Amino acid sequence: MTSPRTALIAGASIAGPTLAYWLSRYGWDVVVVERAPAPRTAGQNIDVRGVGATVLERIGIRDAVAARRTGELGASFIGPNGEVAGVFPADGSDVDGATAELEILRGDLSDLLVEAGAGAVEHVYGDHVVEVEEHTAHARVRLHSGGVRDVDVVVAADGLNSTTRDVLGLSTRVHHIGLESTYFTIERAPEDDDYWRWYNPGRGRSVQLRPDPNGGIRAVLSELVPPAVAATAVRRTRAEQVAHLRGAFADAGWQTDRVLDGLDRADDLYYEHLGQVKAARWSRGRAVLAGDAAHCASPLSGMGTTLALTGAYVLAGELARHDDHTGAFAEYERIMRPFVERAQKLPPFGPRLATPVSGFGVAAFAAVIKVISSPPLRRLGDRFASRPANAVDLPDYRDLVRR
Ligand SMILES: Cc1cc2nc3c(=O)[nH]c(=O)nc-3n(C[C@H](O)[C@H](O)[C@H](O)COP(=O)(O)OP(=O)(O)OC[C@H]3O[C@@H](n4cnc5c(N)ncnc54)[C@H](O)[C@@H]3O)c2cc1C
Repeated sequence: MTSPRTALIAGASIAGPTLAYWLSRYGWDVVVVERAPAPRTAGQNIDVRGVGATVLERIGIRDAVAARRTGELGASFIGPNGEVAGVFPADGSDVDGATAELEILRGDLSDLLVEAGAGAVEHVYGDHVVEVEEHTAHARVRLHSGGVRDVDVVVAADGLNSTTRDVLGLSTRVHHIGLESTYFTIERAPEDDDYWRWYNPGRGRSVQLRPDPNGGIRAVLSELVPPAVAATAVRRTRAEQVAHLRGAFADAGWQTDRVLDGLDRADDLYYEHLGQVKAARWSRGRAVLAGDAAHCASPLSGMGTTLALTGAYVLAGELARHDDHTGAFAEYERIMRPFVERAQKLPPFGPRLATPVSGFGVAAFAAVIKVISSPPLRRLGDRFASRPANAVDLPDYRDLVRR
């Protein structure tokens, strides 16, 4: 009997655990190395659409994901005086709409995916890849802790700002969108509802509140920033970020004071410059990119998690189907690239329209929302903002399952 093929995957969020699960089902020995010291619980509502839901079904966790849905009822836009300007109810579609049928907190989905591979996949927390040497028959991976692993394939699934990409010789530019968002959980108040409430105070800022199935409210503070600044900005520490937000949102009105109060108590602050990854190549030798590290579409696309699940599923299937990694990587890219390129086309209204700068822009945005949230125009709008959630033929790899 030949020994099992082996993989080391950097990143234990969505793409990493999905890939690990499938490779282990195909008989591979897999280790997932996560830089954080423990599973990360942070993150807001993320959507699983179309083929992404099929991947969950094939793993056997679609019902478990549905049971942990956020319960968001739709999106509600708040006008300049705190009034509701327009509501877009969730319509149960598994493809379109701001609130997808399978909307779940990122930490909950990650938990379920890690759990699916438990027992078959090795997890290492608090470590990361620092060097990879390519040999004829294997890749030798050195970890920050000093550990060394010889594997057939090394995967960077460590997100938008992946550093493993650089170690693997697959560096690429992140295309910043010009929007910074900070996500965290605050306490639920009696007057809170279960809509995604979106308020624009002007000066390129938005305050968003979303329901949390665990009894809290997930808050988002977003600000427009010039993409050039985002690209060069030094990452702020938590304390600096809190101080910055307190200043930037001090006079924002509506529920902002309560959100700022919750900032100090939040133990799940997550902060990012939104961006997209359009890597010219996804593999090099025995190394390959997966999930956001390969093709981040940004939260504005509503497709990032669906792409991560689907890409990981296809990569695992092609590795199992091919005896050589080169053929597998080529096929993975052939299947996934067109899907990714469609998903990365952002809706024609950019962050500047949804997050107006001037008082006039804020009032105009609310007026437009009022008109387009009326039922006939809403249906038209849904068609306009339709997502390509099924724009790939998902291969069936079931005959490759070994365990
Ligand atoms: C904490 C967190 C919160 C998020 N919140 C939201 C949100 O609110 N809304 C939204 O749309 N998207 C959010 N995202 C992004 C979303 O999960 C992804 O866009 C999408 O699901 C694709 O997932 P991914 O697994 O490819 O990448 P990611 O989800 O970004 O996961 C990357 C993983 O790699 C780990 N990592 C980073 N560097 C290294 C390294 N050098 N070695 C090993 N591991 C490393 C990270 O800790 C993380 O666990 C969040 C991601 C994270 C990590």
